[in-house]
Amino acid sequence: MGNDHDHANPVTPTDGDGRRPARILVTGAAGFIGSHLCDHLLSRGDRVWGLDSFDSFYPPEIKRQNIAPALRHPSMRLVEGDLRDGVLLDGLLSDIAFDAVVHLAARPGVRPSIDDPNLCFDVNVTGTLSLLEAMRRRGPRRLLFGSSSSVYGERKDAPFVEDTAGDRPISPYAASKRTGEMLCYTFHHLYDLSVLSLRFFTVFGPRQRPDLAIHKFARLMANGEPLPLYGDGSSARDYTYVDDIVNGITRGLEWVERESRDAPVYDVVNLGRSDPVTLSDLVARLARALEIEPAVHHLPEQPGDVSLTCASDAKARDLIGYAPEVGLDEGLRRFASWFWERTPRPEKVAAGG
Ligand code: NAD
Repeated sequence: MGNDHDHANPVTPTDGDGRRPARILVTGAAGFIGSHLCDHLLSRGDRVWGLDSFDSFYPPEIKRQNIAPALRHPSMRLVEGDLRDGVLLDGLLSDIAFDAVVHLAARPGVRPSIDDPNLCFDVNVTGTLSLLEAMRRRGPRRLLFGSSSSVYGERKDAPFVEDTAGDRPISPYAASKRTGEMLCYTFHHLYDLSVLSLRFFTVFGPRQRPDLAIHKFARLMANGEPLPLYGDGSSARDYTYVDDIVNGITRGLEWVERESRDAPVYDVVNLGRSDPVTLSDLVARLARALEIEPAVHHLPEQPGDVSLTCASDAKARDLIGYAPEVGLDEGLRRFASWFWERTPRPEKVAAGG
């Protein structure tokens, strides 16, 4: 980092498709979604800088494996550091004339945020503010913010549409994401930043965070352990395959680039599938994909967990041309094949049986 001085030469030649390769900063680049995004941006010819602190929320070695393929690409740079370090951000944003920032770094997870709300707010709110402040001082003027379906809180009026108030989050994590969105709007209003907030709905696929249900359940099934199912199994989630999320982020980058040419823009869109699946159904379909018979262990509902998420994807389709393609069963098949490449199959379970 620090010696490219790309401000001196902000215009690069167009690639084969006539599109000028962009310079993108991805925060949280070594994480689940961030690493897939880096791979995709590099594959379409962009130059990518990743910022990641390799925090201890889950083992940093997993994050190093996530980002390893991107790091083999000559157009990838990794900056190891903390989002809350304003001096680091000022240096990075001064040295490189980024076209846009995709902000994915966060302390994720509903339950961990209940255990440690201060840490959640420190990273998700103070960290986001630190990035916004650095962008105000140094540029660039275009930001995509990784928000969450959890901002909708406990609702029955599915599908969730973006213009609902979102003022009753039921966990510190949800409150931190809603606060992040609001800070983005404030900086749009005060300093002409163009921002698109993307509300991701339960993302899954290869490299999924080990704390999330599909990955956690797969691990337990492979170990022959029962799955802890919170509630009666009727809670439902709108599961979204990671490639579709990456496609939505890419469309969002194109939208913000196009629409902010004359005046700054701000908007919020859901990235989901509008197809919620109950927890019981998810377990059955995951078991089929993994070819394992699961044992389940019912536990009381967890505070902070909403009973339903369901995106309206109409606005994302209309505004940015988002078009999710991978259904739950196909996504689970792809996840299962990734999972079995790195996990020994249990002896008693015959493949295919
Ligand atoms: P992840 O934990 O795999 O990735 C986040 C990355 O941010 C990690 O690599 C971590 O090391 C890094 N990070 C954490 N604190 C940092 C800091 N202070 N400075 C720099 N880097 C830091 O999570 P993910 O599942 O890939 O989620 C990415 C984003 O999408 C997060 O903002 C998350 O809240 C949001 N989101 C995810 C989901 C989902 O289902 N995975 C759903 C809704 C929203």
